[in-house]
Amino acid sequence: MAIKITDECINCGACEPECPNNAIYEGGIEWKMADGTGVKGEYVLMSGTTTDAQEAHEPVAVDVYYITPDKCTECQGFHEEPQCAAVCPVDCCVPDELYEETVEQLLEKKEKMHL
Ligand code: SF4
Ligand code: SF4
Repeated sequence: MAIKITDECINCGACEPECPNNAIYEGGIEWKMADGTGVKGEYVLMSGTTTDAQEAHEPVAVDVYYITPDKCTECQGFHEEPQCAAVCPVDCCVPDELYEETVEQLLEKKEKMHL
């Protein structure tokens, strides 16, 4: 399951550089599949929608940092535990029940992003 950031976030920015998939963005900033990944050209999102790697998507949150579920792999394939949760000073990086995924699915997502 992807990790999400709750509105208890204090905008310290500590998590953003720790994410191996560049899945974390400052509130209000648009996200792209290509940011920090090897994705080029067409990419099918978890919703089934096809996007372009360079297409800018609406921010998930405006006032606090956010995680885009399409890029979060719970750090599978890189680290033993979610790095955002490990560094967050207020423990506001928590599992997102809306995105239940197996380890195999998370690893597949990681492979799709880092060919
Ligand atoms: S769990 Fe890992 S991959 Fe997901 S947002 Fe946090 S640091 Fe990034
Ligand atoms: S580390 Fe925690 S408090 Fe700091 S920006 Fe990330 S989610 Fe927000």
